[in-house]
Amino acid sequence: MGKPVVLPKDVEAQVKKKVDEGWKNNAFNQYVSDMISVHRSLPDPRDEWCKAPGRFLENLPETSVIVCFHNEAWSVLLRTVHSILDRSPPQYLKEIILVDDNSDMPHLAKQLDDYMEQYPKVRIVRAPKREGLIRARLMGARHATAPVLTFLDSHCECTTGWLEPLLTPIAKDPLTVVCPVIDVISDDTFEYHYRDSTGVNVGGFDWNLQFNWHAIPSKERARHQHPAEPVRSPTMAGGLFSIDKAFFERLGTYDSGFDIWGGENLELSFKTWMCGGTLEIVPCSHVGHIFRKRSPYKWRSGVNVLKRNSIRLAEVWLDEYKKYYYERIGFDLGDFGDVSERKRLRENLKCKSFKWYLDNVYPELFVPGDAVASGEVHNLATGQCVDSPAKPEDNHKPVGLWPCHKQGGNQYWMLSKEGEIRRDEACMDYAGSDVILYPCHGSKGNQYWEYSPETNRIIHGSSKKCLAISQDRKKLVMEDCSLEEGRQKWKFENYDPNKKL
Ligand code: UDP
Ligand code: MN
Repeated sequence: MGKPVVLPKDVEAQVKKKVDEGWKNNAFNQYVSDMISVHRSLPDPRDEWCKAPGRFLENLPETSVIVCFHNEAWSVLLRTVHSILDRSPPQYLKEIILVDDNSDMPHLAKQLDDYMEQYPKVRIVRAPKREGLIRARLMGARHATAPVLTFLDSHCECTTGWLEPLLTPIAKDPLTVVCPVIDVISDDTFEYHYRDSTGVNVGGFDWNLQFNWHAIPSKERARHQHPAEPVRSPTMAGGLFSIDKAFFERLGTYDSGFDIWGGENLELSFKTWMCGGTLEIVPCSHVGHIFRKRSPYKWRSGVNVLKRNSIRLAEVWLDEYKKYYYERIGFDLGDFGDVSERKRLRENLKCKSFKWYLDNVYPELFVPGDAVASGEVHNLATGQCVDSPAKPEDNHKPVGLWPCHKQGGNQYWMLSKEGEIRRDEACMDYAGSDVILYPCHGSKGNQYWEYSPETNRIIHGSSKKCLAISQDRKKLVMEDCSLEEGRQKWKFENYDPNKKL
């Protein structure tokens, strides 16, 4: 029933060794997974609304489920496959295509072939060389024979009734791309965690071109009678979704120039919306996924794969907005290959502009072009810059300092028209002690800063103190303002007074 397996703390040395080995190879607790049935039962996480008779269409199109893997653990891969076989109505499940992306773990060779012989719906295709998940998915798609493609990771568990709510919106409108709610399977205990429909989030992204989750915007909420209805989402997380095969092909599938992992989810999200489709998260469909804290497999050495993928994405789909991503990487594009064919694809499809997408699909996103200043915040006396990561987990921590490096990243800040100093959803905030990052709240107060390019001071709105560097030059402090004090003098890059409110 998805209950956790907690190993005793004092396991014998032999077991401990196996547990450690499992973690090392998979970045999850393989030992615990091996203890659990590959047919384990799970709670039914669906809302009652989903179970009403007639909620979903009856004559649904068949789907091919494509599961790519590179060196997946045996019990985890099998549990994925069995959860699909056990919980999909057979009339809708045409086949499961396992794409082996050149794994070298021994159990994934003949042992897997032999095991899957018993299940005629399961087909295995193998990549002769390591392709990465994007080209591996494309390989699976080429072998698929059903009209709908469903992609899942190789460490998932489908729950009761997961498939019908995904296929129904596609049957009604084949330009709809749908994602299940992704529940969390604990990487340590394999406990299945789920929340009800009111906890559903939608996908977004930031200007590092990183995917993130958000609460459902009130405008979208207002379109619904019930929280379990499908929710429009600006982006998808990427691993788990269903799409009409013909629509996927019309959209030019994925950019096959994308390597290993990453960026493909945004590519598909942007072009779905910009080229006439709709992207939805379907709260009646729940699939569990093991989220890992690190990537267990090898990436290519010497290349920043994710950055290269993201540049290809920006070049083709972001129009003039690509500069906001490039600012984040210090305009260091490197060799990203040839994208002319992808640009031609976009032209032929006559897709809408990225501006249209931002205005209509993701109006909540803060656009750096609206900022009064953007770039580094440079202290004139010390040559240090305001420097901090600004992911959700960095909130509530003091903002740091580092010698200015001109490479964007943790030194890239924006001064918004509303007087926030922000990156993505994190705002500099002063409540009397340290200057910290705090989720932007948009109501000025502790997040209101006034920058003057004449005096080079950054004055805090409610306390009227000045942002400064401490005497020992080690940290940011707030001081009584003094025109003579160099440690209070800052230069905000790319300041444009015309943009002030
Ligand atoms: N994968 C693959 N080839 C690769 C990298 C990943 O086939 O080079 C598979 C991997 O086994 C998994 C899926 O692609 O089933 C997604 O990768 P991962 O789970 O690492 O991504 P995450 O869920 O962490 O975003
Ligand atoms: Mn995964």
